[in-house]
Amino acid sequence: MSMSHGIQALKFTALHLNSKSGGHFRNRKGRFYSINVIAFVLHLSKLLNMSSVNLKENYSLRHLISFRVGGEARFFCEIETNEQFLEVKKKAIQQNKPFFILGRGTNVVISDKGFDGYIVKLSRSFSELSIEGSILKAKAATPLSRIARSSIQNNLSGMHLLAGIPGTLGGAIYMNAGAYGQEISQTVIEVKSINDQGQIITRDNAACSFSYRHSIFQENKECILEASFQLTLGSKDALEKEMNTVMQKRRDSQPLEYPNAGSVFKRTPQDFPGALIEKAGLKGFSIGGAMVSPKHANFIINTGNATAQNIYDLTSVIIETVFKQTGITLEREIIFLGDF
Ligand SMILES: Cc1cc2nc3c(=O)[nH]c(=O)nc-3n(C[C@H](O)[C@H](O)[C@H](O)COP(=O)(O)OP(=O)(O)OC[C@H]3O[C@@H](n4cnc5c(N)ncnc54)[C@H](O)[C@@H]3O)c2cc1C
Repeated sequence: MSMSHGIQALKFTALHLNSKSGGHFRNRKGRFYSINVIAFVLHLSKLLNMSSVNLKENYSLRHLISFRVGGEARFFCEIETNEQFLEVKKKAIQQNKPFFILGRGTNVVISDKGFDGYIVKLSRSFSELSIEGSILKAKAATPLSRIARSSIQNNLSGMHLLAGIPGTLGGAIYMNAGAYGQEISQTVIEVKSINDQGQIITRDNAACSFSYRHSIFQENKECILEASFQLTLGSKDALEKEMNTVMQKRRDSQPLEYPNAGSVFKRTPQDFPGALIEKAGLKGFSIGGAMVSPKHANFIINTGNATAQNIYDLTSVIIETVFKQTGITLEREIIFLGDF
């Protein structure tokens, strides 16, 4: 039995005992006394140096990836605390295995051959939002759409156009996500993250080194925990109207009816990738079940049975064709994880 199975079994036994005894025990002298059995077991497990992490092995991640493709993670778990993050990270470092933090999987494709390392996802305990005056604070697993909508409800402007980005706050900070002239970095006051040593680091906006689809977290690989934003006063009705307009634009121009991961390539100084791909005659071109969307050429869609490899190969063909025709090298925005 693995450590994590061991602790799960202990937790189950504790819960069982707790429900049977109503949380009370009788000592030898016949006196009742109440013990929080679960807390006791968790304490015991700490003393015995047992893991509280529920690591799953060979875990398919398709349902956690917006493209609905790809293989298994050698190890996967949802983490509930900073300590659990550190515990898994240490395992990865000790075993010299790669480590990856998954948000909502809306900008990632995992190889069909899987990922021979550790993938963690922040659980709901990392999803929280608060607003005080014009300052909004949110934890990393909070959906960006929830943040945008809450800001509107509170008459606050600055994030309302990000409502259609389907990722988490952590993913958005990592990517410096943006849309329709709004970038998440524009309103960031500070970002808190945790490093491999367990230190919590607070960076102000400048220290996050934001630029187009880039932040310092792409280099330091820390886990983003939370961020705060300085918003400005606006009118709920006007903000809602603007949000609805851009949401309609998305529905009209993006193939949201198919699994996808948003824009495949980053903008280039010369032209929009969609225009370059369309000019190269690749709209509707497909490899296996992966197709350049006939609706928007900078989107690849999964028409039903795409593999991760189909998607990757299609991006390679696009890069090659566009380069041959224009001399411009497109850069992938989607993150491809594992061997391709
Ligand atoms: C229909 C559709 C429309 C989209 N439109 C846009 C758009 O308009 N603009 C835009 O910018 N993007 C867009 N995207 C892409 C995507 O939603 C964004 O890049 C988003 O920010 C990714 O967030 P995520 O939580 O899904 O991250 P994931 O895709 O899971 O991960 C992305 C990266 O962030 C890292 N990461 C995630 N959480 C953390 C954390 N807590 N700490 C450290 N690193 C972390 C991951 O390791 C990974 O490297 C779109 C995607 C789809 C499917």
